[in-house]
This record gives sequence, structure tokens and C-alpha cells, in this order.
Amino acid sequence: MAIPASSGFRVIYHAPICPTCGSSNITTDDIETTDGLTEEAFICLACGETWPLACVTDWDTQAGGHRAPSSISAPAGGTS
Ligand SMILES: [Zn+2]
Repeated sequence: MAIPASSGFRVIYHAPICPTCGSSNITTDDIETTDGLTEEAFICLACGETWPLACVTDWDTQAGGHRAPSSISAPAGGTS
């Protein structure tokens, strides 16, 4: 993945591809989540699928010593 930028231009391999239909006809926009928050997301112009730009996990909290059960009910907020 680490491609040296020796050719004089940057190559970004985070190409947005629709996980549903595989289309590369993608845009980004702010969408409203089910929590009432607004976040930037990819939007497939071909089928209308939306998905977040990045996944946020809570592995750090589990690694802190408190071993939570598999079902985590606490919302991951407060990072704004
Ligand atoms: Zn699609």
C-alpha cells in the first residue's frame, strides 16, 4: 500500500466504491444519522446507498481493563 510518491503526484487509494453495487459514482454529503447527529458520508449516486467515511470502534474502552459484554449499549459520543 505504501507507494513512494516518486512520480510527482499523490496517489490516494481511499477510492470510494459503493459496497452495495460496486459503483464508483460516489459523492459525499452531510447526512443525518439515526441519533439525530449529522456526519459526512459517502453517497452512491447509482443506487442511493450511504455509508460513513470511516468506522468508529470502541476497542480502546474494552482494552482499559473493563471487559464489557459483547453487546455495548453506551453511545459513543462526546467527541465533538
Ligand atoms: Zn451503489
